[in-house]
This record gives sequence, structure tokens and C-alpha cells, in this order.
Amino acid sequence: MIDKLVVFGVGLIGGSFALALRQAGAVREIVGVGRSSGNLEEALRRGAIDRAETDAATAVKGADAVLLAVPVGQMGGVMEAIAPHLDAHTVVTDAGSTKGDVVALGRRYLAAHLTHFVPAHPIAGAEKSGAAAAGAELFQGRNVVITPTPETDAAAASQVRALWQACGATVREMTAQAHDEVFAAVSHLPHLLAFALVDEIASRANGEELFSYAASGFRDFTRIAGSSPEMWRDICLANRAALLKELDAYQAQIARLRAMLAGEDGAALERVFDHARAARNQWIADKRY
Ligand code: NAD
Repeated sequence: MIDKLVVFGVGLIGGSFALALRQAGAVREIVGVGRSSGNLEEALRRGAIDRAETDAATAVKGADAVLLAVPVGQMGGVMEAIAPHLDAHTVVTDAGSTKGDVVALGRRYLAAHLTHFVPAHPIAGAEKSGAAAAGAELFQGRNVVITPTPETDAAAASQVRALWQACGATVREMTAQAHDEVFAAVSHLPHLLAFALVDEIASRANGEELFSYAASGFRDFTRIAGSSPEMWRDICLANRAALLKELDAYQAQIARLRAMLAGEDGAALERVFDHARAARNQWIADKRY
């Protein structure tokens, strides 16, 4: 049980964290800080936060834990605003989808507070945004990756672990670099591809006609193109080195498939499809998502 939690960005992730901890009885008071008054009012209405605060310095006063759940492009500004006002005991964590950049920002802006800085990424989410989409069950049975720095205090890391466990999540640990390489492959690349496909079709003169015939396969492949453009712009830019490598590997695979198609090599195509189907079915059967 902690006394006071402050959430910067009470959207899908920040709002769900707040609702889950409240449901678990793990926190007494939750203060929300945001950019849009409409979203903060929704967070209040839904009971995710007890009060909204506009001043970052006032908000973090006396906090036991601070969660930064803003787009990764906003993390540096928020860290800079709170750094001079943090109590010595306050644990700062984040929910950003990229970790190398957030750790670098932490080193820059939270240098005096690094022992109490625990970078984290919940592997749960949706293409929906804002407090209206938040729910106490979002992290139930999901993984949360924490990427403590060499300076991170073991007690601070334990506290962040305990908060995520109270949300029903399983906590795993890895380095920020390993995290960014893994998620470039299995999250950031698929989002880029979904946005690319929908944009390309929507830009055609007969885009409307094409959409009118699109069905469940198109819907499933492109679901994540309904995600927040700001959030995904920030993620792609922050993890561009790893993402460019994944894009190159994907382009090489597309070139291989193109050659099979041009050469009417049905056996080769079928081998690729067969291999992919078996791996995909196994992954679903293992419930690794
Ligand atoms: P969201 O758009 O639902 O919520 C973000 C909130 O932050 C918004 O309410 C916005 O108004 C607010 N905000 C933006 N800039 C701010 C600032 N400078 N100060 C205070 N508030 C600010 O987005 P989300 O899906 O909850 O994502 C939040 C973070 O979690 C991002 O860093 C994202 O990368 C990460 N994340 C998202 C998912 C997902 O699937 N959506 C999953 C895991 C992690």
C-alpha cells in the first residue's frame, strides 16, 4: 500500500494503472496531471484519479510514486519539470514503449534521482486512447518489462514490481537495449506496416472503392493503424536504429517473396506460408500474447 501516486498522462495506460491499483486497494490517493482538461474530467468521472493538478511541482509534492504515461516524445519535458520538486523517497517510473531513449532522458533530467528511477513498459494496450478507454483489467495476466539502470536502487525496483503485480501483471526484467531490439521486431515494425498499407490504399484515386470491398482479413491486419499517430511517431523516431534494421530484414523477405511470385515458384511460396502458419498457430496455442 502506498499513500500517494501521481500519474502524468491519465490516458489508456495511466488511467488503467490507476484504476487497477485502486481496485487492488494498493494506493490511498491518486493525482492526475494532463494536457487536456476534457480527458482529466473523464478520469475523475471514472474514478481513476481523486484530483487533477495542473502544476507539476505541486502535484509531485509528497508522492511515493510517480508514473510517466505520456507519449515518449513528452517524457523529457515532464522529467525536467518534476526533477527539482521530487522528494528523496519518491520512486519515478514510466510506461513508455521504448526504453533506450527514456533511460537517456532520465540520465539527463533525473540525474540526482537515478537511484529511484525505474524504467518500465507494460506489454498490454490497445489501439484506443484516453481515459475513456482505460480499464482496471488491462494488465491482468500480461507482462511488464522493467529495465532498471545500474544505478537503480533494489528497493525502488521492488516497489515498482509490486505495483505492477498488484495490477495483475507478471514482471520481467531486461536491459533497455535488448528491450528495444525485441519490440522493434514484434511491435514497432507491425505498426509501421499497418499504417503504411492503409495510407497507401487510402491515397489511391479508387481508395473508397477498395475499402468498400475490404473485409475481415484487412480489418485484422490493419487494426493497429487505428492507434494514436502522435504516440507511434514518437516510438518510431525514438527506436529508429532498431526499427530500420527490422525494416531492412522485412524488405529482404518481401524481395524473396516477390521473386518467388515472379518466378511462379508455388512450392517455395507454400513453404514460407506453411512455416509461418505453424509458428503463428504455436504462438497462439502457447498464449504468449
Ligand atoms: P493516451 O493517448 O491514451 O494517453 C496519453 C495521455 O498523456 C493523454 O491523455 C495526453 O493528453 C497526455 N499527455 C500528453 N503529453 C502530456 C504532457 N506533456 N503532460 C501531461 N500529460 C500529457 O496514450 P497511452 O496509450 O496511454 O500511452 C501512454 C504511454 O504508454 C506512451 O508512452 C506509450 O508509448 C505507452 N504504451 C502504450 C501502449 C498502448 O498500446 N497504447 C502500450 C504500452 C505502453
